[in-house]
Amino acid sequence: MRRGGHAGGMADCIFCRIVAGQIPAAKIHEDAETLVFLDIHPLAEGHALVIPKRHAVRVQDLPDAAAAALARAIAVATRKQAAALGAEGATLAVNDGPAAGQEVPHVHVHVVPRRKGDGGAPIHALPWPRPAQSIDQVKAVAERLSKA
Ligand code: AMP
Repeated sequence: MRRGGHAGGMADCIFCRIVAGQIPAAKIHEDAETLVFLDIHPLAEGHALVIPKRHAVRVQDLPDAAAAALARAIAVATRKQAAALGAEGATLAVNDGPAAGQEVPHVHVHVVPRRKGDGGAPIHALPWPRPAQSIDQVKAVAERLSKA
């Protein structure tokens, strides 16, 4: 397993530099393991990024405690968006790895506040070619995954 962990942060990582206070960010929540700040190119007002403070590139690189802390901070972000902005829902997304479109190589969860009729789409509307899989094929994939 790949772990890009450096307690002091990665000098060339923009999100590590935000954690270190070397570049500014619109922070909305912080605890020992996580930081939540607003995306500079928001998809919606209040679009937040939830990150582990300790550098990791991919979700699969996260130690269990960091993953748990990340999940808690996601919940905090959605509560804040509901309380302060009246968000009725949220779209949560991770571009996990360059193959998925990740541009900043430090794990970050996009938390985009949503409202009915906001014109946004569910992630199922992402335009990618879908495999036409029978239920048996889905079960066969599940077996491979469960054994991995
Ligand atoms: P991605 O890696 O594709 O999931 O996207 C990275 C996200 O980080 C984009 O939505 C950027 O707008 C956002 N971003 C990049 N640099 C900063 C920064 N300094 N402060 C806040 N958001 C940033």
